[in-house]
This record gives sequence, C-alpha cells and structure tokens, in this order.
Amino acid sequence: MKTPPDPSLRVAMTVPRTEAEGPGVRFAVWVQGCPMRCPGCCNPEMLSFTPRAPVAEVRASELVAACLAEEGEGVSFLGGEPFAQAEGLAAVARGVRAAGRSVMVFSGYTLDELRAQEAAGVAALLALTDLLVDGRYDESRRTTQRRWVGSDNQVMHFLTDRYSPLDPRFHEGNHLEIRMRGGEITLNGWPALGRLTRLGPAR
Ligand code: SF4
Repeated sequence: MKTPPDPSLRVAMTVPRTEAEGPGVRFAVWVQGCPMRCPGCCNPEMLSFTPRAPVAEVRASELVAACLAEEGEGVSFLGGEPFAQAEGLAAVARGVRAAGRSVMVFSGYTLDELRAQEAAGVAALLALTDLLVDGRYDESRRTTQRRWVGSDNQVMHFLTDRYSPLDPRFHEGNHLEIRMRGGEITLNGWPALGRLTRLGPAR
C-alpha cells in the first residue's frame, strides 16, 4: 500500500490544551508566515515567512500524534495564515478527523477567496474544516463580544454538521486564558487589552 505523504510544517507555537481557541478543549497550532499585514494583528511575530528566530519544522504525523495524545475535542489552526500551509495542515486535519475529532481554522482569507484558490491543499483543507473564522482582522471593527472572532467583518462558517450556531458556547463573550505548563506561561484567546503574549519558550 502506498504510504500517505507526511509533509513538514513551519510551526510558530503549539498549545496542547486550550479552551480559548474554539469549542471545548482543543490542541492549537499557530503556523509561521502570513502574506497579509492587517494593522493591529495580534501575532506580528508570526507573519514573516523567514523569521529571525528559528521556527520548528514539524511533520504532520507528529502534530496528529501530539493532538491525539490529549483528550481534546479537536484541533484549531491559527497563525500566521493556515492556508499558506494548506497541504501540511490538510494532512494534520485528515488524521485528526479520522480519530473523530473536529477541525477549526482561523484564516485571513474569506471563504469566497479560499474557494477561488487553486494552490495545493487549499480545497482539501477546506473540505476537512468543520468551523472556519474567515477574513482579515479589521482594527476599526474590533470586537470583544463575539467568541473567537476578532473583528465584526469576520464570519464564523459552519462548514459541516459537527457544530450548530445554536450551541450556547458560540454565544458567550470572548475571554483570555492564562496557562502555565512546564515552566512556560501562555496567554490565549482574544484579550480585551493587549496582545497574545508568549512569556516562555512555548513550542
Ligand atoms: S490575516 Fe491574521 S495573521 Fe495575517 S496579518 Fe491579518 S490578523 Fe495577522
């Protein structure tokens, strides 16, 4: 039998368990590199495709194994721009979905833009995505009221039946999560004041 491809991803950060980046407890992956430059982006250090600090090269299979090692509801892809590494993340999403878990993606592209893209892996990742938050971050339309959404132009798309917009979890306010693990502290979620800040060497 042919061995499935195991692409390598450029990963800025992972958080094995978070309740601030989608419904339930989730494994979150921030990829490195985004072609957009939204003023007020909360992760400016993750925008460069050639960052000064070394970035982890991680195999898709390693991310799947790390995600499934946790008792979470699914995986969330953030960045950076997840669809800039669509082939690799599609491989991760495939493994996670095969284990019955869900996939949520935060993208700066709109859903229409993604459907028009022909780059490798984009259609595959979209087909494996249960929840998509789409669109650039618009600082002038910033919101702290919509859960997991940074600005009012962004839309939460329910691309499969896995989740329902009637789920009360989707109507709670945003919140900031502070996690301490193995000597590192991470702030996750949508902070009302300030930016996502890594206070330790999170990987
Ligand atoms: S699309 Fe997202 S990661 Fe990229 S610049 Fe805009 S807010 Fe930042």
